[in-house]
Amino acid sequence: MSSPGDDTGGGRVLVGLGVAPGYAIGRAHLVDRRRVQIPKYHVEPDALDAEVARFEAALAASETQVRTLRNRLEAAGEEHYLILDAHQLMLQDEMLVDGVRQTMRAQSINPEWALKKVLRSIKQVFDNIDDEYFRERRSDVDFVGDRLMRNLLGLSQPGVAEAAHSAVVVAHDLSPADTLVLTRSPVLGFATEAGGRTSHTAIIARSLELPAVVAVAGLTEHIGRGDLLIVDGTHGRVIVDPPPAEVKRYQALQLAYQAQRARLDAVRHDAATTGDGHRILIRGNIERPDETRGVLDHGAAGIGLYRTEYLYMNRETPPDEDEQFEHYKAVLEAAGPGGATIRTLDIGGDKLAASLRVGPEANPVMGLRAIRYCLHRPDLFRVQLRALLRASAHGALRIMLPLIAGLEEVRETRALLARCRQELAGRGHPMAESIPFGIMIELPAAVTLADWLAEEVDFFSIGTNDLTQYSLAIDRGNRHVAHLYNPLHPAMVRIVRHVVAAADAAGIPVSMCGEMAGEPLSLPVLLGLGLRTLSMNQNSVPLIKAMVRDLRVDDCEALCAEIAELRTAAEVEARVREAARGMLDGAMAASILDPML
Ligand code: PEP
Ligand code: MG
Repeated sequence: MSSPGDDTGGGRVLVGLGVAPGYAIGRAHLVDRRRVQIPKYHVEPDALDAEVARFEAALAASETQVRTLRNRLEAAGEEHYLILDAHQLMLQDEMLVDGVRQTMRAQSINPEWALKKVLRSIKQVFDNIDDEYFRERRSDVDFVGDRLMRNLLGLSQPGVAEAAHSAVVVAHDLSPADTLVLTRSPVLGFATEAGGRTSHTAIIARSLELPAVVAVAGLTEHIGRGDLLIVDGTHGRVIVDPPPAEVKRYQALQLAYQAQRARLDAVRHDAATTGDGHRILIRGNIERPDETRGVLDHGAAGIGLYRTEYLYMNRETPPDEDEQFEHYKAVLEAAGPGGATIRTLDIGGDKLAASLRVGPEANPVMGLRAIRYCLHRPDLFRVQLRALLRASAHGALRIMLPLIAGLEEVRETRALLARCRQELAGRGHPMAESIPFGIMIELPAAVTLADWLAEEVDFFSIGTNDLTQYSLAIDRGNRHVAHLYNPLHPAMVRIVRHVVAAADAAGIPVSMCGEMAGEPLSLPVLLGLGLRTLSMNQNSVPLIKAMVRDLRVDDCEALCAEIAELRTAAEVEARVREAARGMLDGAMAASILDPML
């Protein structure tokens, strides 16, 4: 395999993070966001008012532009208008707006110079927060600052409006406003220098189902307008000026990928029943209520994990009971008979919210997070529990607690829930009589105590993202140990087996909602270990459902008996690959096991 920046005679291969699968072959359309020249000058006292007025005019123009774009996006049924709401708020932010006015007056300088200074200090605040989500919101500051600056200078706003047909959009980063055009013009894919798995480009590319590679170092330096490019979102590569043979190879991959997608799409609503008659429930994971419909459209039978912490992010104050109630009610109503497993706030660790500050922690992943934070702040927790109880009158709700380590947390939460129910009954609110109450198994302590926990809760859901992190001591976000992450590690296989056995012995349902649930290669193992409910990101649903129909549980059980004897991750993986080749339909096996052909 070529290393980043290699010139192998097969085109220059740039390596990044594949955040939306698929292959695009086309000419580069560079979105020009080169820095504009910023004039810097001192202003005489009698000219200051006029300069401030110039800033106010640029601010008003920016607000109008963002509002117009936002309304157009909303009218077009685009969910991404919410990102523009954040930009609108930023244009009213005191730190930015008053900051520029005050800096101009205090230092007698022109608005462009003052804006530059203020933006720099705001970005420093973001830089000092060690969190991927916040680092990515830093790009919102860049977009808003760039818009204001261009309006001050009377320049047009750059964008992708003129994106040619069959173009691959290449940019340092893409603004949410660009998406308005992108959703209409027939672009083929994206490649950006900035971004991560949760950056706007990644989110948008996944929802448009276009291939995307982000975090490509040196991308805009190596690519010129009109260069022929291959964006390989499946493997996280961008190939610049590929030779004809490489283009041919990728055209074949593209065709195979499209054919497979079409096959999967056509049967996404068929039941997921194995060849030997076992019905498998495939549910979807969401971060926002408006994703519910998309998940069902992909063929999922309800919501298996709603990560409610996203409701608390990107805002100054936490959502109140009524607001949360409306969100949960909307999810339950849209989820239909499959219902929704709504997880209580899992804040802290790698997920921070400005509205809920925990003091600095040396090791936040082992800190005051998730259920620990909630029980430490019962005032806040009760708001969420009350909202959930009220929502239970509107659909099949299941409540789930994250990061449970032992029985105390379960019991304490049950007691809080009972008190909230009493309060609400006193206020005359309708509520479901009984609500399934379950926990995530994502700590080794919960695995060890699974038999006792199973006696006190209604269901388990295995969170392999954290469970792998804590069991194998592999930081989820650390690229230096990412190569060690393997869900087929024999320790993980044993852990899952143990948890399923404990749930079965107690007669409670057990599901899995970590990323492993949507990984094709893990599926035969999960079925063989006894899992019958899996919850995953929406794009994995059609593929996993189709795979289920190709598999037989008895074969999967035989495979699991064999791998129980294998002592290394490499041996387990090799055996599973070999077995999958025999179990799956030829085209399916090829697309999963040999995606490079
Ligand atoms: C998990 O840890 O596997 C999980 C599903 O929770 P999250 O990814 O939200 O931490
Ligand atoms: Mg987790």
